[in-house]
Amino acid sequence: MDKIVVIGAGPAGVVASSYLAKQGFEVVVLEKEGFPRFVIGESLLPRCMDSLEEAGLMPSLLEKGYQKKMGASYYNRKNQTCSFLFSQQFSKSWDWTWNVQRIHFDQDLVDAAKANGVQFIFGSTVTVVAIDGERRSVTYGRGGEEKTVEAAFVMDASGYGRVLPRLLDLEKPSTQKPRGAVFAHFVDQKRTGREGDDIFIYPFDDKNSWIWVIPFSDGTASVGLVSETEETKAFAADDFKAYLDFVRSFELLDGRFTDAAYQRDPAMILGYSVGVKQMYGKGYVLCGNSTEFLDPVFSSGVTLATVSGLLAAKLVEKELNGESVDWQTAYEDEMQHGIEVFRSYVNGWYNGELQTIFFNPKINSEIKKKICSVLAGHVWDNANPFVRKHRTILSTLAKVIEIENKAADIAEK
Ligand SMILES: Cc1cc2nc3c(=O)[nH]c(=O)nc-3n(C[C@H](O)[C@H](O)[C@H](O)COP(=O)(O)OP(=O)(O)OC[C@H]3O[C@@H](n4cnc5c(N)ncnc54)[C@H](O)[C@@H]3O)c2cc1C
Repeated sequence: MDKIVVIGAGPAGVVASSYLAKQGFEVVVLEKEGFPRFVIGESLLPRCMDSLEEAGLMPSLLEKGYQKKMGASYYNRKNQTCSFLFSQQFSKSWDWTWNVQRIHFDQDLVDAAKANGVQFIFGSTVTVVAIDGERRSVTYGRGGEEKTVEAAFVMDASGYGRVLPRLLDLEKPSTQKPRGAVFAHFVDQKRTGREGDDIFIYPFDDKNSWIWVIPFSDGTASVGLVSETEETKAFAADDFKAYLDFVRSFELLDGRFTDAAYQRDPAMILGYSVGVKQMYGKGYVLCGNSTEFLDPVFSSGVTLATVSGLLAAKLVEKELNGESVDWQTAYEDEMQHGIEVFRSYVNGWYNGELQTIFFNPKINSEIKKKICSVLAGHVWDNANPFVRKHRTILSTLAKVIEIENKAADIAEK
């Protein structure tokens, strides 16, 4: 039987290929870059741990000593904090996850998948995917040579490369406002207390720009600014001067990076929010960022990548074993549901509703547990009303809190 061809060796491609290799399929991953390679996306969610485990990748990852991440902390401009601990959740879940330097983590994933039988061909850029009735072939360039491999099934996990969306005209503009990010790694020697354990998010202007701090276990941290496109370009201008000045002097960071040196030089990424018209077709499927990427604020990318990679792999397994698969229901609708839940929370963040909820001093602990499960990536747990009613529940709750706050103000006067 022909091989299953996976395009891209990021988390989506590695989870998919590792699972299929463990089931006895011959899988080859074609990866454009030589590894290790850097990519942004460093703070994981507990939900992705399930996928890594099921794909047979977890045992070796557990030995690597990545930074444990126990929760997420959000600040507002008045320096109030709302912290979520993954141990206090509604859904059944891992109660921790990792912050990872992707240059190491993605290499570790590849090594673990190789041990499970996956073949990787690095430095191979896929340029053509021919889908013709029952046959498909994938052409890639490597070291000046072009090669073609016949495929039993093609899985596109090419992330920002978006190979099949481009080749098959599947691209769709995102509904998210265009934003960008500027980021670098800094030496991080002034941590105190729980600053080692979380991701920290601080909003900082009236356009809802925000800054992330992601601590790593080697005493460095990733610090990124997310803002609208023009602001992002301004932060990056003059060799990232405005970015560096901001990080060094931002008062809520309390001098943490004032004298800190770069451990990885700054970079900018723009226009990362994208969508697709369709996630599958005869003999192919898209996973991870090749489908849709919303926004980094809830660190959802690697979770959506690993969950989609695993689900797609299980359906490929079924189909190649001769069972019929309803890709629309079993894959696209399922993945779209999770994406839509995250979309409601991303929109709630940028329109201020989530801040109203997070910084309400009377936030009920049961509500907090349910929101925490969404932030942990359990966006398919429909027993959670904060998943099931995601389209309306945030605005309803924010309105109730605003009315209560107004009533309390009036009573005080
Ligand atoms: C500013 C920002 C911050 C983010 N922060 C987070 C975060 O904190 N947590 C989180 O979970 N996510 C985050 N993300 C999202 C995260 O980057 C992605 O969702 C995640 O890396 C997707 O994984 P993937 O496997 O789909 O793709 P990738 O990890 O991008 O891997 C795709 C691979 O495909 C290869 N490829 C591309 N084109 C070709 C080709 N033609 N031929 C062969 N190979 C090819 C690439 O070289 C790459 O190695 C962030 C994103 C942005 C923009």
